[in-house]
Amino acid sequence: MNTNKKVMLIVVVMLGALSFSTIFNVWINFRDFGKMTATDKAHSIAESVRDGLTAHMVLGTMEKRDLFLENMKKHQNVDTLRVIRSQKLIEEFGVGTTDIYKYDDIEKNVLQTGKSETVIKETPTEVILRVTIPYIATKYGNPNCLTCHIANQEGDVLGAITMEMNINDLRQLGIEAIAKTVAILILFLIIAVLVARHYIKPYVKLFDDLEDGISRAYRGDFSYHVETSLSNEAGKVARRLNDLSEIFRFKKTIELDDSKGQIYERISYILSNTFEIKSFALFENHTETNKRVVVESSEDLKHSPIFDETNLTKCRANRTGLVVNSLEFHKICKTCYMEKREYLCLPFSISPEYSLTLLLYANNKEELLKYKEMVPIISNYFELAEPVLEAKFLMHKLEERSLKDGLTGLYNRRFLDQFVEVNLPEDKDFSVMMIDIDFFKQVNDTYGHDVGDTVIKELSAVLQNNIKGSDLAIRYGGEEFLVIVFNSNYEIIEKIATSIKVEFSKKSFKANDKVFNKTLSIGIALYPEDAQRVWQAIKFADVALYQAKETGRNKIVRFENKMYTEEEI
Ligand code: GH3
Ligand code: MG
Ligand code: MG
Repeated sequence: MNTNKKVMLIVVVMLGALSFSTIFNVWINFRDFGKMTATDKAHSIAESVRDGLTAHMVLGTMEKRDLFLENMKKHQNVDTLRVIRSQKLIEEFGVGTTDIYKYDDIEKNVLQTGKSETVIKETPTEVILRVTIPYIATKYGNPNCLTCHIANQEGDVLGAITMEMNINDLRQLGIEAIAKTVAILILFLIIAVLVARHYIKPYVKLFDDLEDGISRAYRGDFSYHVETSLSNEAGKVARRLNDLSEIFRFKKTIELDDSKGQIYERISYILSNTFEIKSFALFENHTETNKRVVVESSEDLKHSPIFDETNLTKCRANRTGLVVNSLEFHKICKTCYMEKREYLCLPFSISPEYSLTLLLYANNKEELLKYKEMVPIISNYFELAEPVLEAKFLMHKLEERSLKDGLTGLYNRRFLDQFVEVNLPEDKDFSVMMIDIDFFKQVNDTYGHDVGDTVIKELSAVLQNNIKGSDLAIRYGGEEFLVIVFNSNYEIIEKIATSIKVEFSKKSFKANDKVFNKTLSIGIALYPEDAQRVWQAIKFADVALYQAKETGRNKIVRFENKMYTEEEI
Protein backbone atom coordinates (compact mmCIF):
# COMPACT_ATOMS: atom_id res chain seq x y z
CA MET A 1 0.00 0.00 0.00
CA ASN A 2 1.52 3.38 -0.96
CA THR A 3 1.74 6.34 1.43
CA ASN A 4 -1.19 8.10 -0.21
CA LYS A 5 -3.56 5.16 0.37
CA LYS A 6 -2.24 4.69 3.92
CA VAL A 7 -2.90 8.34 4.80
CA MET A 8 -6.39 8.18 3.25
CA LEU A 9 -7.19 5.01 5.20
CA ILE A 10 -6.07 6.64 8.46
CA VAL A 11 -8.23 9.72 7.72
CA VAL A 12 -11.29 7.56 6.93
CA VAL A 13 -10.81 5.35 10.00
CA MET A 14 -10.34 8.32 12.32
CA LEU A 15 -13.31 10.24 10.95
CA GLY A 16 -15.40 7.01 10.93
CA ALA A 17 -14.62 6.42 14.62
CA LEU A 18 -15.47 10.02 15.40
CA SER A 19 -18.80 9.71 13.52
CA PHE A 20 -19.69 6.48 15.24
CA SER A 21 -19.00 7.86 18.73
CA THR A 22 -21.00 11.01 17.92
CA ILE A 23 -24.00 8.96 16.76
CA PHE A 24 -23.78 6.71 19.82
CA ASN A 25 -23.65 9.76 22.07
CA VAL A 26 -26.68 11.35 20.40
CA TRP A 27 -28.63 8.13 20.74
CA ILE A 28 -27.77 7.69 24.45
CA ASN A 29 -28.62 11.34 25.19
CA PHE A 30 -31.94 11.12 23.43
CA ARG A 31 -32.86 7.94 25.25
CA ASP A 32 -31.95 9.41 28.66
CA PHE A 33 -33.68 12.64 27.85
CA GLY A 34 -36.89 10.77 26.80
CA LYS A 35 -36.83 8.66 29.92
CA MET A 36 -36.24 11.67 32.13
CA THR A 37 -39.02 13.73 30.51
CA ALA A 38 -41.51 10.86 30.79
CA THR A 39 -40.48 10.11 34.39
CA ASP A 40 -40.90 13.79 35.35
CA LYS A 41 -44.35 13.73 33.79
CA ALA A 42 -45.18 10.51 35.72
CA HIS A 43 -44.11 12.14 39.00
CA SER A 44 -46.25 15.17 38.35
CA ILE A 45 -49.23 12.89 37.48
CA ALA A 46 -48.56 10.89 40.67
CA GLU A 47 -48.73 14.08 42.70
CA SER A 48 -51.90 15.21 40.97
CA VAL A 49 -53.48 11.79 41.59
CA ARG A 50 -52.44 11.89 45.26
CA ASP A 51 -53.86 15.37 45.67
CA GLY A 52 -57.03 14.41 43.79
CA LEU A 53 -57.56 11.27 45.87
CA THR A 54 -56.89 13.19 49.08
CA ALA A 55 -59.48 15.78 48.03
CA HIS A 56 -62.01 13.03 47.29
CA MET A 57 -61.27 11.47 50.64
CA VAL A 58 -61.58 14.72 52.54
CA LEU A 59 -64.76 15.67 50.69
CA GLY A 60 -66.16 12.18 51.21
CA THR A 61 -66.59 11.57 47.49
CA MET A 62 -64.48 8.47 47.23
CA GLU A 63 -67.13 6.78 45.03
CA LYS A 64 -66.10 9.14 42.26
CA ARG A 65 -62.41 8.27 42.40
CA ASP A 66 -62.64 5.81 39.45
CA LEU A 67 -64.08 8.53 37.24
CA PHE A 68 -61.33 10.84 38.47
CA LEU A 69 -58.63 8.29 37.68
CA GLU A 70 -60.21 7.53 34.28
CA ASN A 71 -60.19 11.25 33.41
CA MET A 72 -56.64 11.55 34.62
CA LYS A 73 -55.63 8.68 32.34
CA LYS A 74 -57.44 10.17 29.37
CA HIS A 75 -56.19 13.75 29.77
CA GLN A 76 -52.62 12.90 30.65
CA ASN A 77 -52.36 10.41 27.81
CA VAL A 78 -51.46 7.54 30.11
CA ASP A 79 -52.13 3.94 28.99
CA THR A 80 -52.35 2.35 32.41
CA LEU A 81 -52.97 4.12 35.69
CA ARG A 82 -53.39 2.02 38.82
CA VAL A 83 -53.33 3.07 42.46
CA ILE A 84 -52.48 0.39 45.00
CA ARG A 85 -52.60 0.35 48.80
CA SER A 86 -49.97 -0.79 51.22
CA GLN A 87 -50.75 -3.59 53.70
CA LYS A 88 -51.19 -1.10 56.55
CA LEU A 89 -53.60 1.04 54.53
CA ILE A 90 -55.60 -2.06 53.53
CA GLU A 91 -55.82 -2.93 57.17
CA GLU A 92 -56.95 0.59 58.00
CA PHE A 93 -59.27 1.44 55.07
CA GLY A 94 -59.87 -1.81 53.21
CA VAL A 95 -58.56 -3.15 49.85
CA GLY A 96 -59.50 -0.22 47.62
CA THR A 97 -60.21 -0.73 43.94
CA THR A 98 -57.15 -2.75 42.86
CA ASP A 99 -57.05 -6.44 43.52
CA ILE A 100 -54.13 -6.97 45.86
CA TYR A 101 -53.42 -10.33 44.35
CA LYS A 102 -52.74 -8.59 41.05
CA TYR A 103 -49.91 -6.46 42.51
CA ASP A 104 -46.89 -7.28 40.39
CA ASP A 105 -43.35 -7.73 41.68
CA ILE A 106 -42.32 -4.15 40.97
CA GLU A 107 -45.27 -2.80 42.90
CA LYS A 108 -44.61 -5.11 45.80
CA ASN A 109 -41.01 -4.00 45.79
CA VAL A 110 -41.86 -0.29 45.68
CA LEU A 111 -44.32 -0.76 48.61
CA GLN A 112 -41.60 -2.48 50.52
CA THR A 113 -38.65 -0.17 49.74
CA GLY A 114 -40.46 3.13 49.32
CA LYS A 115 -38.40 3.84 46.20
CA SER A 116 -39.65 4.58 42.68
CA GLU A 117 -38.94 2.10 39.94
CA THR A 118 -38.83 2.89 36.24
CA VAL A 119 -38.76 0.29 33.48
CA ILE A 120 -38.67 0.78 29.72
CA LYS A 121 -40.34 -1.97 27.71
CA GLU A 122 -39.28 -1.89 24.10
CA THR A 123 -40.94 -3.88 21.33
CA PRO A 124 -40.27 -3.48 17.62
CA THR A 125 -43.34 -1.28 17.33
CA GLU A 126 -43.62 0.41 20.71
CA VAL A 127 -41.65 1.89 23.58
CA ILE A 128 -43.51 1.87 26.91
CA LEU A 129 -42.27 3.63 29.99
CA ARG A 130 -43.58 2.11 33.19
CA VAL A 131 -43.17 4.00 36.46
CA THR A 132 -44.22 2.95 39.93
CA ILE A 133 -44.02 5.76 42.47
CA PRO A 134 -44.60 5.25 46.20
CA TYR A 135 -46.82 7.54 48.32
CA ILE A 136 -44.92 8.22 51.53
CA ALA A 137 -46.74 9.41 54.66
CA THR A 138 -45.62 12.84 55.90
CA LYS A 139 -46.91 15.20 58.50
CA TYR A 140 -45.24 18.17 56.84
CA GLY A 141 -47.40 18.17 53.74
CA ASN A 142 -50.70 19.95 53.25
CA PRO A 143 -52.81 18.26 54.29
CA ASN A 144 -50.90 16.39 56.97
CA CYS A 145 -51.09 12.68 55.94
CA LEU A 146 -50.99 11.52 59.52
CA THR A 147 -54.22 13.36 60.36
CA CYS A 148 -56.20 10.70 58.54
CA HIS A 149 -53.69 7.83 58.42
CA ILE A 150 -53.47 7.69 62.15
CA ALA A 151 -52.10 4.14 62.14
CA ASN A 152 -49.11 5.29 60.12
CA GLN A 153 -45.97 7.09 60.98
CA GLU A 154 -43.79 9.61 59.22
CA GLY A 155 -42.06 7.85 56.26
CA ASP A 156 -44.43 4.89 56.02
CA VAL A 157 -45.34 3.78 52.49
CA LEU A 158 -49.07 4.38 52.14
CA GLY A 159 -49.41 3.08 48.64
CA ALA A 160 -48.10 3.53 45.14
CA ILE A 161 -49.18 4.52 41.69
CA THR A 162 -48.22 2.64 38.53
CA MET A 163 -48.39 4.29 35.16
CA GLU A 164 -47.52 3.11 31.68
CA MET A 165 -46.93 5.69 28.98
CA ASN A 166 -46.22 5.22 25.33
CA ILE A 167 -43.06 7.17 24.48
CA ASN A 168 -42.95 6.17 20.80
CA ASP A 169 -42.90 9.86 19.79
CA LEU A 170 -39.69 10.37 21.68
CA ARG A 171 -38.11 7.33 20.08
CA GLN A 172 -39.23 8.59 16.69
CA LEU A 173 -37.68 11.97 17.43
CA GLY A 174 -34.46 10.27 18.49
CA ILE A 175 -34.34 8.18 15.33
CA GLU A 176 -34.88 11.27 13.19
CA ALA A 177 -32.16 13.17 15.06
CA ILE A 178 -29.75 10.27 14.62
CA ALA A 179 -30.65 9.98 10.91
CA LYS A 180 -29.94 13.70 10.46
CA THR A 181 -26.67 13.39 12.39
CA VAL A 182 -25.64 10.41 10.27
CA ALA A 183 -26.46 12.33 7.07
CA ILE A 184 -24.46 15.35 8.24
CA LEU A 185 -21.54 13.15 9.29
CA ILE A 186 -21.48 11.26 5.98
CA LEU A 187 -21.48 14.58 4.13
CA PHE A 188 -18.72 15.82 6.41
CA LEU A 189 -16.78 12.59 5.90
CA ILE A 190 -16.99 12.91 2.11
CA ILE A 191 -15.92 16.58 2.21
CA ALA A 192 -13.12 15.74 4.65
CA VAL A 193 -11.83 12.94 2.42
CA LEU A 194 -11.96 15.19 -0.66
CA VAL A 195 -10.23 18.06 1.14
CA ALA A 196 -7.65 15.70 2.58
CA ARG A 197 -7.04 14.20 -0.88
CA HIS A 198 -6.64 17.66 -2.37
CA TYR A 199 -4.28 18.98 0.29
CA ILE A 200 -2.47 15.87 1.41
CA LYS A 201 -1.93 14.20 -1.98
CA PRO A 202 0.75 16.68 -3.22
CA TYR A 203 2.62 16.34 0.08
CA VAL A 204 2.48 12.55 -0.02
CA LYS A 205 3.62 12.57 -3.67
CA LEU A 206 6.41 14.97 -2.79
CA PHE A 207 7.41 12.76 0.12
CA ASP A 208 7.54 9.66 -2.14
CA ASP A 209 9.49 11.59 -4.80
CA LEU A 210 11.96 12.96 -2.24
CA GLU A 211 12.55 9.48 -0.91
CA ASP A 212 13.15 8.22 -4.44
CA GLY A 213 15.42 11.19 -5.32
CA ILE A 214 17.50 10.85 -2.15
CA SER A 215 17.87 7.08 -2.62
CA ARG A 216 19.14 7.66 -6.15
CA ALA A 217 21.52 10.41 -5.00
CA TYR A 218 22.78 7.98 -2.37
CA ARG A 219 23.67 5.62 -5.20
CA GLY A 220 25.45 8.45 -7.02
CA ASP A 221 22.69 9.25 -9.52
CA PHE A 222 21.98 12.99 -9.38
CA SER A 223 19.80 13.12 -12.46
CA TYR A 224 16.52 12.95 -10.52
CA HIS A 225 14.35 16.05 -10.62
CA VAL A 226 11.51 16.36 -8.10
CA GLU A 227 8.37 17.89 -9.63
CA THR A 228 5.84 19.45 -7.27
CA SER A 229 2.90 21.82 -7.52
CA LEU A 230 3.57 23.07 -3.98
CA SER A 231 4.98 26.57 -3.70
CA ASN A 232 5.26 26.75 0.09
CA GLU A 233 7.98 25.47 2.44
CA ALA A 234 7.55 21.90 1.14
CA GLY A 235 8.01 23.16 -2.42
CA LYS A 236 11.15 24.94 -1.25
CA VAL A 237 12.52 21.65 0.08
CA ALA A 238 11.95 20.07 -3.34
CA ARG A 239 13.62 22.97 -5.11
CA ARG A 240 16.60 22.80 -2.75
CA LEU A 241 17.00 19.08 -3.44
CA ASN A 242 16.83 19.80 -7.17
CA ASP A 243 19.46 22.52 -6.76
CA LEU A 244 21.71 20.13 -4.86
CA SER A 245 21.27 17.45 -7.52
CA GLU A 246 22.17 19.98 -10.21
CA ILE A 247 25.26 21.06 -8.27
CA PHE A 248 26.52 17.51 -7.74
CA ARG A 249 25.83 16.66 -11.38
CA PHE A 250 27.81 19.77 -12.32
CA LYS A 251 30.69 18.65 -10.11
CA LYS A 252 30.76 15.15 -11.60
CA THR A 253 30.70 16.61 -15.10
CA ILE A 254 33.47 19.17 -14.66
CA GLU A 255 35.76 16.58 -13.12
CA LEU A 256 35.91 15.01 -16.55
CA ASP A 257 36.23 18.28 -18.48
CA ASP A 258 39.62 18.73 -20.05
CA SER A 259 40.19 22.47 -19.63
CA LYS A 260 39.30 25.52 -17.57
CA GLY A 261 37.63 26.94 -20.66
CA GLN A 262 35.18 24.06 -20.80
CA ILE A 263 34.29 24.58 -17.12
CA TYR A 264 33.80 28.30 -17.73
CA GLU A 265 31.48 27.50 -20.62
CA ARG A 266 29.46 25.21 -18.35
CA ILE A 267 29.21 27.91 -15.66
CA SER A 268 28.11 30.37 -18.32
CA TYR A 269 25.42 27.93 -19.50
CA ILE A 270 24.14 27.44 -15.93
CA LEU A 271 24.06 31.20 -15.29
CA SER A 272 21.95 31.88 -18.36
CA ASN A 273 19.78 28.75 -18.33
CA THR A 274 19.35 27.65 -14.72
CA PHE A 275 19.53 31.08 -13.09
CA GLU A 276 18.18 32.96 -16.11
CA ILE A 277 20.72 35.74 -15.70
CA LYS A 278 20.78 37.66 -18.94
CA SER A 279 23.76 39.91 -18.44
CA PHE A 280 27.00 38.66 -16.85
CA ALA A 281 30.75 38.40 -17.28
CA LEU A 282 33.28 36.04 -15.75
CA PHE A 283 36.84 37.31 -15.22
CA GLU A 284 39.97 35.29 -14.65
CA ASN A 285 42.37 37.20 -12.39
CA HIS A 286 46.12 36.59 -12.24
CA THR A 287 47.94 37.84 -9.17
CA GLU A 288 51.39 37.38 -10.71
CA THR A 289 50.75 39.71 -13.62
CA ASN A 290 48.09 41.77 -11.81
CA LYS A 291 45.89 41.38 -14.87
CA ARG A 292 42.36 40.22 -15.42
CA VAL A 293 40.88 38.77 -18.58
CA VAL A 294 37.25 38.15 -19.41
CA VAL A 295 36.74 34.43 -20.04
CA GLU A 296 32.95 34.25 -20.47
CA SER A 297 30.24 36.82 -21.02
CA SER A 298 26.60 37.02 -22.02
CA GLU A 299 25.84 38.01 -25.62
CA ASP A 300 24.86 41.61 -24.73
CA LEU A 301 28.25 42.31 -23.12
CA LYS A 302 30.40 40.96 -25.93
CA HIS A 303 32.83 43.75 -26.96
CA SER A 304 31.70 45.85 -24.00
CA PRO A 305 34.11 48.67 -23.00
CA ILE A 306 34.09 47.37 -19.39
CA PHE A 307 36.48 44.67 -20.58
CA ASP A 308 39.09 47.26 -21.55
CA GLU A 309 40.14 47.60 -17.94
CA THR A 310 42.61 44.77 -17.38
CA ASN A 311 44.30 46.18 -14.28
CA LEU A 312 43.35 43.79 -11.49
CA THR A 313 43.92 46.37 -8.74
CA LYS A 314 40.93 48.31 -10.07
CA CYS A 315 38.62 45.36 -9.36
CA ARG A 316 37.07 46.14 -5.97
CA ALA A 317 35.56 42.67 -5.42
CA ASN A 318 38.91 40.98 -6.04
CA ARG A 319 40.82 43.48 -3.91
CA THR A 320 38.48 43.28 -0.91
CA GLY A 321 37.37 39.67 -1.28
CA LEU A 322 33.83 40.93 -0.65
CA VAL A 323 30.64 40.97 -2.72
CA VAL A 324 30.29 44.36 -4.40
CA ASN A 325 26.72 45.56 -4.72
CA SER A 326 25.67 48.73 -6.54
CA LEU A 327 22.65 49.13 -4.23
CA GLU A 328 25.04 49.86 -1.37
CA PHE A 329 26.67 52.90 -2.91
CA HIS A 330 26.45 54.74 -6.18
CA LYS A 331 29.41 53.89 -8.47
CA ILE A 332 30.86 51.68 -5.72
CA CYS A 333 33.15 50.12 -8.34
CA LYS A 334 34.13 52.26 -11.32
CA THR A 335 35.21 49.30 -13.43
CA CYS A 336 31.77 47.65 -13.14
CA TYR A 337 29.71 50.82 -13.34
CA MET A 338 27.32 51.06 -16.26
CA GLU A 339 24.72 53.77 -16.69
CA LYS A 340 21.13 52.86 -15.74
CA ARG A 341 22.13 49.39 -14.60
CA GLU A 342 22.63 47.78 -11.21
CA TYR A 343 25.46 45.32 -10.63
CA LEU A 344 26.66 42.65 -8.28
CA CYS A 345 30.23 41.40 -8.33
CA LEU A 346 31.20 38.13 -6.62
CA PRO A 347 34.86 37.22 -5.92
CA PHE A 348 35.94 33.57 -5.84
CA SER A 349 39.43 32.68 -4.75
CA ILE A 350 40.76 29.58 -6.50
CA SER A 351 44.45 29.60 -5.58
CA PRO A 352 46.98 32.20 -4.35
CA GLU A 353 47.85 33.03 -7.97
CA TYR A 354 44.48 32.82 -9.56
CA SER A 355 40.92 33.89 -8.77
CA LEU A 356 37.63 34.51 -10.53
CA THR A 357 35.18 37.40 -10.42
CA LEU A 358 31.59 37.04 -11.53
CA LEU A 359 29.91 40.26 -12.53
CA LEU A 360 26.08 40.28 -12.82
CA TYR A 361 24.12 43.16 -14.33
CA ALA A 362 20.46 43.82 -13.58
CA ASN A 363 18.07 46.23 -15.24
CA ASN A 364 16.59 47.42 -11.95
CA LYS A 365 16.81 47.05 -8.18
CA GLU A 366 14.20 44.26 -8.02
CA GLU A 367 16.14 42.18 -10.50
CA LEU A 368 19.35 42.72 -8.56
CA LEU A 369 17.68 41.70 -5.29
CA LYS A 370 16.54 38.52 -7.02
CA TYR A 371 20.14 37.84 -8.07
CA LYS A 372 21.31 38.58 -4.53
CA GLU A 373 19.08 35.79 -3.24
CA MET A 374 20.76 33.44 -5.68
CA VAL A 375 24.28 34.27 -4.43
CA PRO A 376 24.55 31.32 -1.98
CA ILE A 377 23.59 28.75 -4.59
CA ILE A 378 25.77 30.34 -7.29
CA SER A 379 28.63 30.34 -4.77
CA ASN A 380 28.06 26.62 -4.24
CA TYR A 381 28.80 25.99 -7.91
CA PHE A 382 32.04 27.96 -7.70
CA GLU A 383 33.09 26.34 -4.43
CA LEU A 384 32.61 22.89 -5.96
CA ALA A 385 34.46 23.95 -9.09
CA GLU A 386 37.33 25.44 -7.08
CA PRO A 387 39.53 22.30 -6.60
CA VAL A 388 38.90 21.20 -10.18
CA LEU A 389 39.77 24.66 -11.53
CA GLU A 390 42.87 24.83 -9.35
CA ALA A 391 44.06 21.48 -10.69
CA LYS A 392 43.36 22.58 -14.26
CA PHE A 393 45.15 25.88 -13.63
CA LEU A 394 48.25 24.09 -12.34
CA MET A 395 48.18 21.73 -15.29
CA HIS A 396 47.81 24.66 -17.62
CA LYS A 397 50.71 26.42 -15.93
CA LEU A 398 52.93 23.37 -16.23
CA GLU A 399 52.00 23.00 -19.83
CA GLU A 400 52.63 26.70 -20.46
CA ARG A 401 56.02 26.40 -18.81
CA SER A 402 56.97 23.61 -21.18
CA LEU A 403 55.83 25.82 -24.03
CA LYS A 404 57.78 28.89 -22.94
CA ASP A 405 61.36 29.82 -23.17
CA GLY A 406 63.10 30.20 -19.83
CA LEU A 407 65.39 33.07 -20.80
CA THR A 408 62.93 35.43 -22.46
CA GLY A 409 59.52 34.18 -21.27
CA LEU A 410 58.42 34.07 -24.91
CA TYR A 411 56.71 31.03 -26.43
CA ASN A 412 59.07 28.38 -27.79
CA ARG A 413 59.15 26.24 -30.89
CA ARG A 414 57.04 23.50 -29.21
CA PHE A 415 54.33 26.04 -28.71
CA LEU A 416 54.57 27.10 -32.34
CA ASP A 417 54.04 23.49 -33.45
CA GLN A 418 50.90 23.17 -31.28
CA PHE A 419 49.66 26.63 -32.15
CA VAL A 420 49.91 26.08 -35.88
CA GLU A 421 48.09 22.77 -35.45
CA VAL A 422 45.23 24.02 -33.25
CA ASN A 423 44.87 27.79 -33.67
CA LEU A 424 46.11 28.62 -37.09
CA PRO A 425 43.48 27.46 -39.56
CA GLU A 426 44.11 27.84 -43.25
CA ASP A 427 41.50 30.57 -43.61
CA LYS A 428 43.25 33.04 -41.26
CA ASP A 429 45.28 35.95 -42.73
CA PHE A 430 48.64 36.58 -41.09
CA SER A 431 52.15 37.81 -41.71
CA VAL A 432 55.37 36.22 -40.46
CA MET A 433 58.56 37.97 -39.52
CA MET A 434 61.78 35.99 -38.97
CA ILE A 435 64.30 38.08 -37.01
CA ASP A 436 67.96 37.34 -36.39
CA ILE A 437 70.66 39.39 -34.63
CA ASP A 438 73.53 40.26 -36.92
CA PHE A 439 76.94 38.93 -35.96
CA PHE A 440 75.72 37.74 -32.65
CA LYS A 441 78.47 35.21 -32.21
CA GLN A 442 80.86 38.16 -31.82
CA VAL A 443 79.02 39.27 -28.68
CA ASN A 444 79.46 35.89 -27.09
CA ASP A 445 83.04 35.71 -28.23
CA THR A 446 83.96 39.25 -27.15
CA TYR A 447 81.91 39.83 -23.97
CA GLY A 448 80.89 36.39 -22.91
CA HIS A 449 77.70 34.35 -22.91
CA ASP A 450 75.99 36.36 -20.17
CA VAL A 451 76.23 39.57 -22.14
CA GLY A 452 74.91 37.61 -25.13
CA ASP A 453 71.90 36.58 -22.97
CA THR A 454 71.23 40.22 -22.03
CA VAL A 455 71.13 41.16 -25.71
CA ILE A 456 68.68 38.32 -26.43
CA LYS A 457 66.43 39.41 -23.50
CA GLU A 458 66.53 42.99 -24.69
CA LEU A 459 65.40 41.91 -28.15
CA SER A 460 62.50 39.94 -26.68
CA ALA A 461 61.43 43.07 -24.74
CA VAL A 462 61.56 45.11 -27.96
CA LEU A 463 59.40 42.51 -29.72
CA GLN A 464 56.75 42.48 -26.98
CA ASN A 465 56.73 46.22 -26.99
CA ASN A 466 55.86 46.36 -30.68
CA ILE A 467 53.12 43.73 -31.01
CA LYS A 468 49.42 43.71 -29.95
CA GLY A 469 47.86 41.20 -27.52
CA SER A 470 46.53 38.94 -30.27
CA ASP A 471 49.89 38.77 -32.11
CA LEU A 472 52.64 36.31 -31.20
CA ALA A 473 56.38 36.55 -30.57
CA ILE A 474 58.24 33.23 -30.46
CA ARG A 475 61.86 32.39 -29.73
CA TYR A 476 62.42 30.26 -32.75
CA GLY A 477 65.93 29.18 -31.74
CA GLY A 478 69.22 30.78 -30.53
CA GLU A 479 68.97 34.47 -31.31
CA GLU A 480 66.37 33.92 -34.00
CA PHE A 481 62.80 35.09 -33.36
CA LEU A 482 59.51 34.68 -35.14
CA VAL A 483 56.67 37.18 -34.98
CA ILE A 484 53.16 36.43 -36.28
CA VAL A 485 50.84 39.38 -36.88
CA PHE A 486 47.21 38.66 -37.68
CA ASN A 487 44.92 40.47 -40.13
CA SER A 488 47.72 42.56 -41.55
CA ASN A 489 49.06 43.57 -44.93
CA TYR A 490 52.66 44.21 -45.99
CA GLU A 491 52.44 47.88 -45.17
CA ILE A 492 51.49 47.13 -41.57
CA ILE A 493 54.01 44.39 -41.01
CA GLU A 494 56.80 46.39 -42.59
CA LYS A 495 55.99 49.23 -40.26
CA ILE A 496 56.16 46.92 -37.24
CA ALA A 497 59.40 45.35 -38.53
CA THR A 498 60.95 48.78 -39.02
CA SER A 499 59.90 49.86 -35.57
CA ILE A 500 61.47 46.72 -34.06
CA LYS A 501 64.64 47.12 -36.11
CA VAL A 502 65.06 50.82 -35.24
CA GLU A 503 64.22 50.42 -31.56
CA PHE A 504 66.67 47.51 -31.16
CA SER A 505 69.48 49.25 -33.03
CA LYS A 506 69.15 52.19 -30.62
CA LYS A 507 69.72 49.96 -27.63
CA SER A 508 73.19 50.36 -26.11
CA PHE A 509 74.79 47.43 -24.36
CA LYS A 510 77.53 47.88 -21.77
CA ALA A 511 80.24 45.30 -21.24
CA ASN A 512 83.85 45.53 -20.04
CA ASP A 513 83.61 49.35 -19.94
CA LYS A 514 82.60 49.30 -23.54
CA VAL A 515 79.31 50.21 -25.12
CA PHE A 516 78.09 48.53 -28.28
CA ASN A 517 74.97 48.35 -30.44
CA LYS A 518 73.55 45.52 -32.50
CA THR A 519 71.47 45.38 -35.63
CA LEU A 520 68.79 43.01 -36.90
CA SER A 521 68.01 41.33 -40.17
CA ILE A 522 64.33 40.61 -40.80
CA GLY A 523 62.65 38.39 -43.38
CA ILE A 524 58.92 38.75 -44.07
CA ALA A 525 56.34 36.49 -45.74
CA LEU A 526 52.57 36.98 -45.97
CA TYR A 527 49.92 34.29 -45.83
CA PRO A 528 48.13 33.56 -48.07
CA GLU A 529 49.67 36.20 -50.37
CA ASP A 530 53.19 34.70 -50.51
CA ALA A 531 52.63 31.11 -49.36
CA GLN A 532 50.01 28.44 -49.97
CA ARG A 533 50.36 26.71 -46.63
CA VAL A 534 50.88 27.94 -43.06
CA TRP A 535 54.26 26.25 -42.53
CA GLN A 536 55.37 27.40 -45.92
CA ALA A 537 54.89 31.05 -44.83
CA ILE A 538 57.27 30.46 -41.90
CA LYS A 539 59.76 28.81 -44.15
CA PHE A 540 59.56 31.69 -46.68
CA ALA A 541 60.12 34.29 -43.93
CA ASP A 542 63.31 32.36 -43.10
CA VAL A 543 64.27 32.37 -46.75
CA ALA A 544 63.76 36.15 -46.85
CA LEU A 545 65.90 36.47 -43.71
CA TYR A 546 68.67 34.50 -45.38
CA GLN A 547 68.38 36.88 -48.31
CA ALA A 548 68.75 39.84 -45.92
CA LYS A 549 71.87 38.32 -44.43
CA GLU A 550 73.28 37.54 -47.85
CA THR A 551 72.69 41.04 -49.12
CA GLY A 552 74.38 42.93 -46.32
CA ARG A 553 72.37 42.45 -43.07
CA ASN A 554 70.66 45.21 -40.99
CA LYS A 555 67.69 45.21 -43.37
CA ILE A 556 64.13 44.05 -43.95
CA VAL A 557 63.48 41.78 -46.93
CA ARG A 558 60.14 40.51 -48.15
CA PHE A 559 60.01 37.04 -49.62
CA GLU A 560 59.91 36.73 -53.38
CA ASN A 561 59.39 33.56 -55.35
CA LYS A 562 62.72 33.99 -57.13
CA MET A 563 64.51 33.52 -53.80
CA TYR A 564 63.40 29.92 -53.83
CA THR A 565 63.44 27.35 -56.63
CA GLU A 566 60.08 25.82 -57.75
CA GLU A 567 61.12 22.34 -56.70
CA GLU A 568 61.87 23.52 -53.21
CA ILE A 569 58.49 25.29 -52.97
P1 GH3 B 1 74.67 36.17 -38.55
O1 GH3 B 1 74.76 37.60 -38.72
O2 GH3 B 1 74.94 35.41 -39.77
O3 GH3 B 1 73.41 35.73 -37.90
O4 GH3 B 1 75.85 35.82 -37.59
P2 GH3 B 1 75.75 35.23 -36.19
O5 GH3 B 1 77.08 35.37 -35.55
O6 GH3 B 1 74.67 35.86 -35.42
O7 GH3 B 1 75.48 33.78 -36.50
P3 GH3 B 1 74.40 32.87 -35.96
O8 GH3 B 1 73.10 33.53 -36.02
O9 GH3 B 1 74.51 31.56 -36.63
O10 GH3 B 1 74.88 32.74 -34.45
C1 GH3 B 1 74.14 32.11 -33.51
C2 GH3 B 1 74.85 32.06 -32.18
O11 GH3 B 1 74.03 32.40 -31.10
C3 GH3 B 1 75.41 30.70 -31.89
C4 GH3 B 1 75.27 30.52 -30.42
O12 GH3 B 1 76.49 30.44 -29.79
C5 GH3 B 1 74.54 31.75 -29.97
N1 GH3 B 1 73.52 31.43 -29.10
C6 GH3 B 1 72.47 30.63 -29.34
N2 GH3 B 1 71.63 30.60 -28.26
C7 GH3 B 1 72.23 31.42 -27.33
C8 GH3 B 1 71.87 31.81 -26.03
O13 GH3 B 1 70.86 31.39 -25.46
N3 GH3 B 1 72.72 32.66 -25.37
C9 GH3 B 1 73.83 33.13 -25.92
N4 GH3 B 1 74.61 33.97 -25.22
N5 GH3 B 1 74.21 32.77 -27.13
C10 GH3 B 1 73.41 31.93 -27.85
MG1 MG C 1 72.66 35.88 -36.04
MG1 MG D 1 71.03 32.98 -35.89
